[in-house]
Amino acid sequence: MTIEEAQQTVDRWIHTYGVRYFSELTNMAVLTEEVGELARVMARRYGDQSFKPGEKDNLADEMADVLWVLLCLANQTGTDLTEAFRRNLEKKTARDKERHKNNPKL
Ligand SMILES: [Mg+2]
Repeated sequence: MTIEEAQQTVDRWIHTYGVRYFSELTNMAVLTEEVGELARVMARRYGDQSFKPGEKDNLADEMADVLWVLLCLANQTGTDLTEAFRRNLEKKTARDKERHKNNPKL
């Protein structure tokens, strides 16, 4: 699935099952909430915390939750994430193509 197809899939799902998008600000709050849930799993899997009994190590699902809400926000704000990602990659490459290679900490 391409990024464009993912945006279209989310849009179809929202209009089929979700009635309408939550407002942009609500989805911004939901994105923050989902990032927190991802952080919780990361802290338990890779950090010093441990899973409580019954808690699931659902890293992939939490990443998908973050992606879902980001795709919603892209659709709501008229953002073409394919183009945005392409431009962002160009920007990072122009800015950092030597920087990381020259970082002795890496
Ligand atoms: Mg979640």
